[in-house]
Amino acid sequence: MSVDKMQEIADVIGDTNADVHIIGGEPTLVGIDTHKQYLSILSKLPSSKIMIVTALQNARAVKVAKLYQNIATSYDPNARIEVNNDKWLERCKELRGCGNNVHLCVSLSQSVIDYGVSKALDEVYGFGFRSVHLAAMVPTMNALAETPDPMITSQAMIESAEWALEKRRVGEDGIFVSPFDGLLQGMSNYDGLRCPAGESCVNVEPNGKIHACVAKGGEVKDIVINQMQSTETQLSSNAYILEVAQHNRSRTECFGCEFWITCKGGCRVLANTDIAKNSVECAGFKTFLNYVKGKVHV
Ligand code: SF4
Ligand code: SF4
Repeated sequence: MSVDKMQEIADVIGDTNADVHIIGGEPTLVGIDTHKQYLSILSKLPSSKIMIVTALQNARAVKVAKLYQNIATSYDPNARIEVNNDKWLERCKELRGCGNNVHLCVSLSQSVIDYGVSKALDEVYGFGFRSVHLAAMVPTMNALAETPDPMITSQAMIESAEWALEKRRVGEDGIFVSPFDGLLQGMSNYDGLRCPAGESCVNVEPNGKIHACVAKGGEVKDIVINQMQSTETQLSSNAYILEVAQHNRSRTECFGCEFWITCKGGCRVLANTDIAKNSVECAGFKTFLNYVKGKVHV
């Protein structure tokens, strides 16, 4: 993304409390000088938290990530050989040692679930992380084969909750496993499971096009948003409003559901796949939400 485009986005954000997540692909592939220019713009935003999302695959990524106070990275136990998790951990430790906040995410892919959610959580705990977000897979073309049946994801989330509760039972109070702990603190306030499209999230592609949903945006073929338009103009354009409306169309199964505010219908990309359509579970992981509800009232 050009520095000018970043400035334009910052102008739209102004003094609102919108956070900025620099994501990719792999954003550390962009030159370090460009990142410095991004930051000289973004650091002037008075109420926004700025974060970079990186796989931390090499020393160059660390160099770029160090510029950002907040870094999100993900752990995949099955990538031990390919990505070399020992080196990844060293890089996380280096960044933590420099005072950066390193936020950890584990994607609930089929292979991570096969590996064992509790086992993966034990490992990240052993690495010194006390807070972790478990992300349900978004079944993009690349990730379709790794996307489990939503019931399996629900069960994996329940397993993560049981893991956290057991840790607390033995006196470890500093644990935060999202989305479970976030939901426990406020079922309708926590946005770790809710689909943010069109409401609390705008995705700006490198060419300046905006989309409501990070994953779905690029697949919308019948709506042409003129990429020469400014971000502000696109936000109020009919094309974008239509995209949001189409994206957020409710499904029959959601009518009257008590968890609507919590999940807003779940991931629409997932809901529209055969994986979800053939499952007894919905794309908002209702079995897991019912489990959390049981814990809230205990
Ligand atoms: S829990 Fe399931 S049925 Fe209920 S609103 Fe969410 S997606 Fe819809
Ligand atoms: S549909 Fe919502 S939850 Fe799913 S990828 Fe898009 S923005 Fe995220």
